[in-house]
Amino acid sequence: MECIFCKIAAKKIPSTIVKETDRLVVIKDISPQSPTHLLVIPKAHFATILDCDDRNIMGEMLSVAKEAAKEAGVDKKGFRLVINTNEEGGQTVFHLHMHLMAGRHLDGKMG
Ligand code: AMP
Ligand code: ZN
Repeated sequence: MECIFCKIAAKKIPSTIVKETDRLVVIKDISPQSPTHLLVIPKAHFATILDCDDRNIMGEMLSVAKEAAKEAGVDKKGFRLVINTNEEGGQTVFHLHMHLMAGRHLDGKMG
């Protein structure tokens, strides 16, 4: 198993898991770009969102992200959900994941 997020989902390497379901983990980003920066990661491997046709898992990623935002207390002020895809989309880890960013004013760009 080479993929870092497969290893994280299987708990073969450590991460800070803030939420877990049968099919997803939510972890703290190791290099946070905002005060709250979580990653919603399916346990199954899909390289990108383009490789995922599973509507259930895509829906569950959104549902769990909403729950995680509420649990982090950032829902009222607001947050951003982002799925970077392929090179120009800024994707660096090729295992599908969604960023949940909050805790500061997010302007037009991710950084
Ligand atoms: P992306 O650029 O959309 O592919 O996002 C990959 C994200 O994964 C980046 O924000 C990284 O900081 C984060 N990341 C990489 N390795 C780890 C790790 N071991 N634990 C937590 N987050 C990680
Ligand atoms: Zn993987």
